[in-house]
Amino acid sequence: LVPGDIVLLEEGDRVPADLRLSYARNLSVDEAALTGESVPVDKNADPIHEDTPSPADQHCIAFSGTFITRGSGRGIVVATGPKSELGKIADLMKETSKAGAAPLMRKIAEFTKALLIIVLVLAGINLILGATLGGYDVAYSFLVSVSLAVAAIPEGLPAILTIALAFGAKAMAQRSAMIRKLPAVETLGSTTVICSDKTGTLTKAEMTVVNIFCSGKEYTLTGTGYTPEGQFLHQGEPFNPGQDSDLMETLRAGIWCNSAHVRRRPEDGAYEALGDPTEAALVVSGLKAGLLADSSRLDEMPFDSISRYMVTLHRDGDQNILYLKGSPENVLALCRHQKTNGTVQLLDDRPVLEKLNNMAGDALRVLGLAYKHVPADKSFITTEDLSDFVFLGLQGMIDPPKEEAIEAVAKCKRAGIRVVMITGDNAATARSVAEKLGIDTGGGVLTGEDLSKMSDSELYNAVDHVSIYARVAPVHKFKVATQLQQRGHIVAMTGDGVNDAPALRAADIGIAMGIKGTDVSKEAADMVLMDGNFASIVAAVEEGRHVLESIRKTILYTLPTNMGQGLLVIGSIALIPFSALFETRLPLESVQILWVSLYDAVALAFPLLWESCETGLLDRPPRDPKEPIANALFFRKVGSGSSIMAAAAFFVFYHYGESAILDGIVDEVRLSQAQTAAFMTVMMVHIFYLFTARSLTRSVFSMNPFPNRKVVAGVLGTIIIQLIIVYALPATGFNPLRTESFPGEWWILIVALSLPALLLVELEEWLYERFSNRGHLRPKQVSG
Ligand code: ADP
Ligand code: MG
Repeated sequence: LVPGDIVLLEEGDRVPADLRLSYARNLSVDEAALTGESVPVDKNADPIHEDTPSPADQHCIAFSGTFITRGSGRGIVVATGPKSELGKIADLMKETSKAGAAPLMRKIAEFTKALLIIVLVLAGINLILGATLGGYDVAYSFLVSVSLAVAAIPEGLPAILTIALAFGAKAMAQRSAMIRKLPAVETLGSTTVICSDKTGTLTKAEMTVVNIFCSGKEYTLTGTGYTPEGQFLHQGEPFNPGQDSDLMETLRAGIWCNSAHVRRRPEDGAYEALGDPTEAALVVSGLKAGLLADSSRLDEMPFDSISRYMVTLHRDGDQNILYLKGSPENVLALCRHQKTNGTVQLLDDRPVLEKLNNMAGDALRVLGLAYKHVPADKSFITTEDLSDFVFLGLQGMIDPPKEEAIEAVAKCKRAGIRVVMITGDNAATARSVAEKLGIDTGGGVLTGEDLSKMSDSELYNAVDHVSIYARVAPVHKFKVATQLQQRGHIVAMTGDGVNDAPALRAADIGIAMGIKGTDVSKEAADMVLMDGNFASIVAAVEEGRHVLESIRKTILYTLPTNMGQGLLVIGSIALIPFSALFETRLPLESVQILWVSLYDAVALAFPLLWESCETGLLDRPPRDPKEPIANALFFRKVGSGSSIMAAAAFFVFYHYGESAILDGIVDEVRLSQAQTAAFMTVMMVHIFYLFTARSLTRSVFSMNPFPNRKVVAGVLGTIIIQLIIVYALPATGFNPLRTESFPGEWWILIVALSLPALLLVELEEWLYERFSNRGHLRPKQVSG
């Protein structure tokens, strides 16, 4: 945009530059970002005095970065970018990041903090006791303390986890779900309820009018999609619509009170809708009767999801006419008369409601139509006009469910995720569409009216079994989301309108629609659905679960290995008073421990993120959000993994190092060799353990024996570098890791003692079988 451009504004838009309004209709703008004013302000096109200083008083300017909450308008760009009001105060605006860390990340942070404190306290005690009571060399005690801290704290973990989330976000983007806030990736994996819109998300939103009801008569209409070719049928017989003036009037109301267009696509000549599909369907039904859209509309009150109707004003001969269309209930509420066989009579809404129920029971989306004559000098619609309409009839349109959505709903069922449909449509329509989609209808339907009457605690009791909400307004979405959360659910919620923003913010995952969504809703959302397809939400959940699993694998690999090193150091400290060997050296040099932490994170734990997911991510219930990281499985792995590692390294060090100290004379070379052997043992244990860590529950022997190529590369790289460190570096004189090459036969013991790490899962199973009730406590096996 450059100054001088003309910008059209409508509800939900974000104003792209400072605009001098040339036209404004019911225009309200939320200027909170600029002025802090939380109530939307009205705008108009009237001039203001040239030195009106405060933006808050400049009612003919729409400011960049603010949001249109209501109405429509047009303006000319007067300032962009840094020259705009917002740009001038951009520095003050730097929004503090509200997005908290994801639950699991937060737990890890807490966990590492606790670990850090414990380790530091231990290290401190060690340093003080060692130097005072023990009377050891202060420098050595200090070194040991530092080694302990380095060994036990998983330095690489936070980085790997963040990368895991970023990978997840990338995978989701490839499946049409764009993540706006990184922690959402993890939260998605724990989703237990998805609350979805109906129209366009679960259904195709390719609407076709098939049923028309007016002055007591029913008509059906043939034809599919937006192609304006079809036949009117009355009682099964072809019918010329021109013979029934009530029918023609109902169709005219539909095609005139309308902002959509239908056109042939230049590429293939197929008909397509521009604008709201609901309105396009009404255009098509009118075209099928030979009517044309009105090109000289005087005024319009656009549709909104709270009033649920739309009104337009047209010239009609020597007077003007208002057309009203909207949800039948809301339209009937504004009518006092009805048109029957060409005459205006007092309204009897019973047959209409009965017919409405029949149509809705067939999953039709139904709109009511009405008109009202007004004097010819009327050129604006005002709220006073909204009464005493004459009811014309109903038009019912099909909106078939998406096939992918039916599949996705079934997937959710298997995955233990509840699908809840929240729609502005009629209760009966909602219920029959839900049936077609396979959404649970057993809990009945709650309408917006019901919701308004219910207290929070009544709603709390209802949300667990009701899966369909109809005729709801955006506030109700917010209520449903919060009550579901009260019940401990992790809630994903879709929305597209301005008024949906609070619900999107309240939900754990707010999902905005990429194409039809307003800027306001996108701003509030955690994720934007590019194709607006329910199936993509489920795909994102699947990716989220994959990320969660990668994270758990990484943790279950990293923590036991770190603990093992910690154990090794603590054990050595405990042995100092009893053994001259441990008084002289630790099994691993601090610099070696540091090195282990480095290759562990980069070459071993990191490639785990590429490990293909265990089959059937969607074939099991969601992770319990309350479950701590430190669950039974965690303790088993940490316990067994770390003890195997510490035991093996201890044994190797002691076995080869013991003879290095004879009668107080220290064989330094031999000691370094023993240390190097222990160093290699730690590496071997890590590598073997990595192979079992590729799956959370299955043993190495029951899964695909070939890990992903990155894991293989990481392992080979580690081994090669370690061999260089042991056999090449000592000879060069550049030997920062202070290794010493040792005899080849030593490897036999090293590998033999490391092997249990590979059999860890088998070992655990075996122990379970022996010591528990024949293994029924065993963790649930993943099927497939
Ligand atoms: P949803 O998107 O969940 O189907 P909406 O809020 O879009 O719900 O629509 C609610 C009701 O408002 C519909 O059932 C229909 O009767 C009516 N409606 C929808 N679109 C329009 C429109 N463009 N003009 C008039 N009425 C409409
Ligand atoms: Mg809608």
